Amino acid sequence: MPSAYPDTPIQQRHRAEMVDRLRHQHQFRDQRVLKALAETPRHLFVPDILRSNAYGDHSLPIDSGQTISQPLMVALQTDLLELTDRDRVLEIGAGSGYQTAILAQVAGQVFALERLPALARSADRLIRDLGYRNATIRCFDGTYGWSEFAPYRGILVAAGAPSIPSTLIDQLEVGGRLVIPVGTERSQRLLRITRNDDGSTTEDFGPCQFVKLVGKFGWES
Ligand code: SAH
Repeated sequence: MPSAYPDTPIQQRHRAEMVDRLRHQHQFRDQRVLKALAETPRHLFVPDILRSNAYGDHSLPIDSGQTISQPLMVALQTDLLELTDRDRVLEIGAGSGYQTAILAQVAGQVFALERLPALARSADRLIRDLGYRNATIRCFDGTYGWSEFAPYRGILVAAGAPSIPSTLIDQLEVGGRLVIPVGTERSQRLLRITRNDDGSTTEDFGPCQFVKLVGKFGWES
């Protein structure tokens, strides 16, 4: 991490404690996910004034009325993708860039989309400054996916959708997985859709709460 960014012993201790709590809360399949959380300075992805709260297991407000996802949810969504370090992954709803940074440490290449220009700009800058060279953040409506780099082994959607956008399933390779919250504006279920030769299968991983996925194949506003 460049020295311009502070990572004090207290922040390091709080981060290690957060990861210990997560390890006890859920049995993660891929231990690299928790290692990535242990090595990622979450306090740099939240507004300055909230830095001291960065290692609690909750979402926090970021700019433009959006939120940085709860660490447990970041870890869970990443784990459900079952990625290897050779895989190409698409993230929709990059927000602060924190989830992008985690994906960059467990996948081969990360393509991330954020619809709000101010967030996309600051997340992209931070990701670069922190040296995650295999991640790119762009600003456009992610409900279209990003066909240029498709097919993806995994697609992670970090905002709640009214239904599963078929555009995203179309951009998965066979055997690839889409992890997406689907439901109403207030509450969703975390779904994992796996594409196979003759269609797809859907699994339900329980209730969750995300901000809205706004776009052509999401909510209108
Ligand atoms: N993973 C992020 C979560 C941010 S909240 C983090 O932990 O910081 C979800 C984000 O999805 C918001 O920033 C919101 O602007 C973005 N979003 C909503 N609809 C979108 C769309 N259609 N395309 C791209 N981003 C979208």
